[in-house]
Amino acid sequence: MNETLYFASRKPRRCPECRSSNVLRIVYGYPDFDLFQDAEAGRVALGGCVLTGADPSWRRMDCDTRVFPQRLRRLYEDSPDEFLSKQRRR
Ligand SMILES: [Zn+2]
Repeated sequence: MNETLYFASRKPRRCPECRSSNVLRIVYGYPDFDLFQDAEAGRVALGGCVLTGADPSWRRMDCDTRVFPQRLRRLYEDSPDEFLSKQRRR
């Protein structure tokens, strides 16, 4: 439950948890054919169509570490409980 939250202003080179370099950008919305193929090939991660306002921008698939865009840090610091309730949706 006490998951460490990571924020970054750009795509991290390595996962902050396991140091793997296989970090994927998360793309939201209904995937078109090209995007679906990119996801199948492991080039991007699909985030689904529902945005909560506390949506991570990148993730490492295997360890499932998610990294949030820097612009959301303020929201998290202002009301962490609200942020956590929004981001816990998987
Ligand atoms: Zn990791």
